[in-house]
Amino acid sequence: MPSFSAVSWGDILSSDGKLTPAEREKAVAWINRKAPQLSCPSCGQRKFTLGENYLAPPVWYGGNMMLGGISYPMFFLVCDNCFHVMTYSAIASGVLVPSQPAPISETPEPNEKGEK
Ligand SMILES: [Zn+2]
Repeated sequence: MPSFSAVSWGDILSSDGKLTPAEREKAVAWINRKAPQLSCPSCGQRKFTLGENYLAPPVWYGGNMMLGGISYPMFFLVCDNCFHVMTYSAIASGVLVPSQPAPISETPEPNEKGEK
């Protein structure tokens, strides 16, 4: 199995969009289950750091970049030797379970007290 270093980059990255401790455990368990022979495709060594944050690249949309729309969150591993970055789908792997968006109502909700 690949090994994961305890290096934390949290001090140099935003606190938004971080993997929770439970999500970090799920990511490491998922890699160990799905890719037990994982080695860096660039240098071949087998020690990685799990990134603290999710990544979501801009979506290509009709020749333009769509910002503020849908996104595809990924967790990422960085090779401890050559710093090659590998990304994995956070949703498809089950590491990140998206919250259900609130239903969009086309008519305003009536005020409970009948006030206007
Ligand atoms: Zn490497």
